[in-house]
Amino acid sequence: MQRLRELSRLVEAVYNDIDHTYGKYQQDSGLQCRSGCGACCNNPHIEATELEMLPMALSLFDRGQAEVMLDKLAEYNGFSCLHFVRQSLDGNQGYCGEYAHRPGVCRMFGAAAVKAKHGLTLSVCKTIKQDVPQKYAAGLIALGEGGVPVIPHDKERIRQLDFSLSQQELPLNKALSAALQRVLTAAWYSAEDAENQVA
Ligand code: SF4
Ligand code: SF4
Repeated sequence: MQRLRELSRLVEAVYNDIDHTYGKYQQDSGLQCRSGCGACCNNPHIEATELEMLPMALSLFDRGQAEVMLDKLAEYNGFSCLHFVRQSLDGNQGYCGEYAHRPGVCRMFGAAAVKAKHGLTLSVCKTIKQDVPQKYAAGLIALGEGGVPVIPHDKERIRQLDFSLSQQELPLNKALSAALQRVLTAAWYSAEDAENQVA
């Protein structure tokens, strides 16, 4: 269990850095999310690794909600990420119910660079493009000047913290289930070790 906690702290340190870097770029470039928008969470195809979900799984465990959440995930047949709190019928408005512990993919999506055939290109979500088309054009022109966070680089920084927990990209709900199962198993063995030491 201690190893998972240490690993989670390392992941969170990278997340803090990502939040700062991506937030600053999005603010400086004006490529910011529409207020109240949650359209990208209303999507069943977002994927993350088990490692990316480890901070959320440990937080749920510490709040005594790990087993309950595992059951909810097993029964859930909704369309999107289980943590998306919808505030409009079409699902375009809403917020993240586990924002502080959201995975890396959710921290990087919006406006950042991705790898393309001949170098980097700017990946900006449809809503932001619609809202600020001139800023999107300016961002594309400024791409060669550097200073744009690059999603694959930061995904790799997270992956390097633990390759075995980063092997597979899974839909978010499945990735969280896997992380919760790992945390609960580790907690069970830790408790058993402690009991044996007392005995
Ligand atoms: S990244 Fe785009 S779709 Fe997602 S919340 Fe921001 S504006 Fe909305
Ligand atoms: S974890 Fe939060 S930010 Fe990420 S998809 Fe789910 S609701 Fe959206």
